[in-house]
Order: sequence, then C-alpha cells, then structure tokens
Amino acid sequence: MKPIDLRSDTVTQPSPAMREAILNADVGDDFFGDDPTVKRLEAMAAERMGKEAAVLVVSGTMGNLASLLTHCKPGDSFIVGSEAHIVHHELWSQVGLGQVNMIQVDNDARGRIDPDAVRILLEGNPDSGSRITAVCMENTHNRCGGAAITASETAALAKVAHDAGTAFHLDGARIFNAALALETTPAELAADTDSITFCLSKGLSGPVGSVICGSGDFIQGARRSRSILGGQMREAGIIAAAGIVGLEEMVDRLADDHANARVLAQGLATIPGIRILPETVDSNIVIFDVEGYTPEAFRQRCKEKGVLVTGVLPHVRMVTHYGIEREDIDEALERTREAALSLL
Ligand SMILES: *Cc1c(COP(=O)(O)O)cnc(C)c1O
Repeated sequence: MKPIDLRSDTVTQPSPAMREAILNADVGDDFFGDDPTVKRLEAMAAERMGKEAAVLVVSGTMGNLASLLTHCKPGDSFIVGSEAHIVHHELWSQVGLGQVNMIQVDNDARGRIDPDAVRILLEGNPDSGSRITAVCMENTHNRCGGAAITASETAALAKVAHDAGTAFHLDGARIFNAALALETTPAELAADTDSITFCLSKGLSGPVGSVICGSGDFIQGARRSRSILGGQMREAGIIAAAGIVGLEEMVDRLADDHANARVLAQGLATIPGIRILPETVDSNIVIFDVEGYTPEAFRQRCKEKGVLVTGVLPHVRMVTHYGIEREDIDEALERTREAALSLL
C-alpha cells in the first residue's frame, strides 16, 4: 500500500522540469555576483512581490531570521502573533541566536492580530531599554488552518507599525496560496510590508530555498545578516533554477491543492469523531480536532492505514500539495474513516 503523505507541502518532490532546469543551470560563485541563475530568480521574486530587490536564502527560518536581524539590533524587540511559526518554531533562532526579544500578541482563530493591541504596545515603547523595532505578520497562517489574511487587514496592521516608526515584516511562506485564496496578487498582499519572505520549497515544490524581498537598502542589510548566519551562497543557481520553474509553472496549480483541501475537509466532516468546519478552509491546510481518541492515537492509526498526517497539538493537520491528486484524497478519506472507526 502506497502511503498518502499529507504531512506537509514540504514533502513535494521537484518536478521533472525542475530536475531538467537544475541539470542545465548556468552557475557561478554567488558571493562574487557570478551566478546568473540566482540573479534571475531574485529579480523575478522581487518583481512578483512588488519590491526593489530580493535575496535567496536556504530556508524560511533563515529568511525570517535574516529579516528580523536587519530590522532589529541585539536587545531590540519585535511584536508577533501568538500562533506564528516564528513563535512556535523559530524562538530559539530569533531569541537565542538573534538576541532579540519577542513580544506576543494573541492571534484570533483566523491568524489575525488586533491592530489596536499592537498600537497600545507601540505607544508604550520605551525611550530606553528594549525598543520595539518591528511588527510581524504571517500569511497564509500555518497554525490557524491556512487562513488567508486580506490586503486591507494587512494594511491596517502595517499602518500601526509605520505610524510608530516601526518596520513591518511579513512571513509569507505561503503567500502564493494566500493570493490565490483571496483572488489577488502577492504584490498586493505585500504592498505595505518592509520585508517579505516566501518559500520555494513548499507548494512551489522546489528542493531548497526561500527568498527575502524588500527595498534595495533593506536587502543589502539582509545580505549582511545572511552572511553572519553562514548563509552565503556559492553555485546556488542549482537551487535557484528549480525556484524559477516553481515561480513560472507551479503557482497556478496551487488551485488544485485548494480544491483538494476543500474536498478533504468536507469528507473529514462526515467521519465520526472528527470536528471541522469545512467552510473555514481557505487554502491547502486542513486543521481539525478529534474527539473520543487522542490526536497521537489517531495519527498512529492513520499511519498504519497508509495516511501520513501531523499533529499541530492539540489539533491534527493534513496538507494538500503537488503529487496529491483527487483520487488520493478519496482514498485518504476512506482510509481515515477506517482509522477513526477502529479507534471508537
Ligand atoms: C515553513 C514555514 C516557515 C519556515 O520555513 P523553513 O523553510 O521550513 O525553514 C516559516 N513560516 C511559516 C509560516 C512556515 O509555514
């Protein structure tokens, strides 16, 4: 039985076109500015995000870290939503390595943070001590069910940040999913940001890489931060080539992932013990609760039945992606139903 892997869109394999592009990529030492493929990817990424410049990094985590190290000096603080990937998975990077302080503001169930709560914190920004120098947002929101946050909600938060003279960073790991869900463009969603990072290695199916986009000055700073983190690149056209194919060929097909996620959510809602509101699924992430058995028992039993899922405890998460077809969703639902029934 072939397992149906719904753990994450990070499990996507590079497409045949990507493998071919990798094989044929023109490469050079990126530190010396000799890699034309990296330059092309960075120019494309900046253009898609409506920014002046961009820099390739190895991961979304490095993208967020290099961005915030550029916005914040050691000892500075930044504000971030309580359910953010930055809080749950990058705390040690930001606080431990970056020596910056993280101030959390409660997320609502859709991943949004209240601009007024942020304004109050910024009004109290001390003249001495740890100054708040950045505000962060995430779109789509990973832990909040892949919710897409609109351009006007983003603008409202950005305004509060900018009114206080503070930078605004967007963790747009899945910004193309957000743009698709909202029928807009990534540039529209990034319009009010000083920096945005997005992943080439998730729904866009690249093997490695994320890109930071922003003003020319900011990206120069981010390049320095990247160097400090040991992230300087050499013949990185090898991975940039796949990223270019991702941007050119893998964005439109995200619509299939979103459609599959909705079918998945609707099917899950009919399974005993699973609680989910299918209408809350905006993109390719499906998060739900289980009742009558624990998330871990459910995950294990699903695995035995050939469906791989992850816990976003206390919830369970399934993610649709390149390589998962509609038939796989039907089959995954059948196997998941068997798993759930066997636990009750
Ligand atoms: C995956 C993810 C990241 C980190 O990306 P990596 O490439 O895994 O380091 C950051 N933010 C969000 C919202 C993510 O989903």
